[in-house]
Amino acid sequence: MQYYSLTNPQEKTNFATAVVNGIAPDRGLYFPESIPKLEADFFVSMESMDIHEMAALAMYPYVEGDIPKNVLDEIIQNTLDFDFPVVPITENIGSLELFHGPTLAFKDVGARFMAQSLGYFNSRQSSKNVTVLVATSGDTGGAVANGFLGVEGIDVVILYPKGKVSKVQELQLTTLGQNITALEIDGVFDDCQDMVKTAFLDSDISSKRKLTSANSINIARWLPQMLYYFIAYRSLAHLKKPLVFSVPSGNFGNICAGMMAQQMGLPIDHFIACTNVNDAVPTYLETGNYKAVTTTPTISNAMDVGDPSNFVRIQKIYGNQFDQLKTHLSGYRFTDSATRIAMKEIHASAGYIADPHGAVGYLGLKDYMVNHSHKYGVFLETAHPVKFLDTVEETLNTKVKLPSRIQSLFSKEQKSIAVANYAELKQYLLA
Ligand SMILES: *Cc1c(COP(=O)(O)O)cnc(C)c1O
Repeated sequence: MQYYSLTNPQEKTNFATAVVNGIAPDRGLYFPESIPKLEADFFVSMESMDIHEMAALAMYPYVEGDIPKNVLDEIIQNTLDFDFPVVPITENIGSLELFHGPTLAFKDVGARFMAQSLGYFNSRQSSKNVTVLVATSGDTGGAVANGFLGVEGIDVVILYPKGKVSKVQELQLTTLGQNITALEIDGVFDDCQDMVKTAFLDSDISSKRKLTSANSINIARWLPQMLYYFIAYRSLAHLKKPLVFSVPSGNFGNICAGMMAQQMGLPIDHFIACTNVNDAVPTYLETGNYKAVTTTPTISNAMDVGDPSNFVRIQKIYGNQFDQLKTHLSGYRFTDSATRIAMKEIHASAGYIADPHGAVGYLGLKDYMVNHSHKYGVFLETAHPVKFLDTVEETLNTKVKLPSRIQSLFSKEQKSIAVANYAELKQYLLA
């Protein structure tokens, strides 16, 4: 598969180079030259297939030419070694729990897939060390740090906004050591993301270090997220109802991967993009005008993104046709207080503890289902509630038990480096 830059279709490269580059030299996001269509056979037999076999068939066209089948099989096995259950919440709404991975965040899948792909490319050729530079609004950092921990030839530098990630998230970022360094940035997530983007274009840095990104702009992080939709479809197909996915969205990588799955032929009826008050996309769907918003901090902080990177990919999927996009995607935004009410409602009615992000997804789905009650709706529960412990406990007035792998973090030493601005980041990277 070849990938081209969305800002210049002539700028093409293979999967391996696109993964190592992260972003195209002209700053465009990479996009596959064509979206592979799966055969009708695949959809007939997928229910009886092993999850790994199904996942490898879906992913192979994207890596063909750069990762052999047997290596991909191994990467998939190591990536998907936990469960993705759909837990019923109401009669026609389920929660797709994506948080059973090592850092309790859905980003574990993309991070592990990417880490292993890069590890494989590195082992294939004696290339110079690669530095993974990543901005996090909370969950990316932990998942990336965990996925890359100990991978040879790769240093990981994580930028996180000071005081704007949860305690558990901060522990996950700052306690690993080895090839992982955490930088505490004086700013919000968008500042971190801007610094990362600037660093990629800085030739002083690129002449000294080979940089790549592990945000969902990187195709090896972004694309494997389509597997959630295949997995959920596989377990719900027996319902024989149109399937709707409601996705709590920040940078819009996850939902965009789901849309790719739909383009490949996966029978998904509709997508719902749910945001907190950082609502550039829901506003776009109402007005047809895209305008980035200034980021406002919320209790669903992994979605505090004012200018979602992957939105250009979503537009591309639908041929940059607003009307096309609108038939496939609905948008909703919710305030923190609505989110807290939803968390209480789900807890009281179903005995289910949702984290604030999942609750935002639930809210949009609930609204949508009012007029579509013949469908089955799945909201993506993107993080374990303990990752947002304070908010969850305070909202539900209940104690949430910490899993042991989180409990053990509290006794570890935290290390991070304070960084005030781009000049300081540059200094660090050049040192
Ligand atoms: C990253 C994240 C999101 C947003 O996902 P995008 O792919 O950036 O839209 C939602 N919820 C949680 C818990 C996250 O960590």
